[in-house]
Amino acid sequence: MKNVLITGGSRGIGRATAIQLAGLGMQVIINYKNNKVAADEVVNQITATGGKAVAIQANIADESEITQMFATIREQYGDLDYLVNNAGILFQHSTTEHLTAERINQVLATNVTGLLICSREFIKSARHFDSFQGKAIVNVSSIASRTGSAGEYVDYAASKGAVDTITKGLSIELAELGIRVNAVRPGVIYTEIHADGGEPERVDRVAHVVPMKRGGKPEEIADVITWLLSDTSSYVTGAIIDAGGGL
Ligand code: NAP
Repeated sequence: MKNVLITGGSRGIGRATAIQLAGLGMQVIINYKNNKVAADEVVNQITATGGKAVAIQANIADESEITQMFATIREQYGDLDYLVNNAGILFQHSTTEHLTAERINQVLATNVTGLLICSREFIKSARHFDSFQGKAIVNVSSIASRTGSAGEYVDYAASKGAVDTITKGLSIELAELGIRVNAVRPGVIYTEIHADGGEPERVDRVAHVVPMKRGGKPEEIADVITWLLSDTSSYVTGAIIDAGGGL
């Protein structure tokens, strides 16, 4: 049975990915930061249908919590096959004029540093088990890395630009080992992240600018992640796939 860790697997895109991967027979390890109720709900939904899932709390903006999480996973569940670097945050819509260093650093700590440290621990864990072949990482970036999110959250967009760069660099670094690294760039997807930006209904407001004239479903991003993890994408690495309805 394949083991997959999904950071931020308790809600939104991570949740849809957890359910989909569990349905394919994987043991899904669902990381979350605060919302234990949401994490337990996904675990219960998966196990109720015969799937395997566990929840693990860790703030990926904190290096020591990440290393502890990977140590726990190694002890209790063994070797990880896949890592989905999905957890990401943004804050209230704001022009750059009003951004603070504290906010920018919080965004980068989760979306960039946390993603890199999780990747590092995944690689170290693979070395521990001495097995690299067939492993894969999928990073969840954003169309914002191309658009820049003017007037909303340039800090968040910049963090996703870094995710694209990390995807490219890490894919080359790990290619010979046999670990593939790819990214998906979602457009506007129906999840609770938009409430954090101060506009829960944002997807409906901006849907008209999407060439397909609608927001995306979390399951439609999960589909891309599932493909990028699977052997049917075995010659794909360093790819950044737009899933934005044409954006
Ligand atoms: P969401 O609904 O807000 O869910 C966020 C998830 O990440 C939750 O499970 C949350 O756990 C977890 N999380 C947040 N900070 C964390 C931390 N420091 N440590 C561990 N877990 C943490 O978000 P989403 O919309 O599904 O977004 C998932 C990814 O897709 C993000 O990287 C986001 O940037 C990207 N994305 C989303 C959209 C979109 O339109 N929704 C578009 C482009 C890209 P708790 O609930 O416990 O805090």
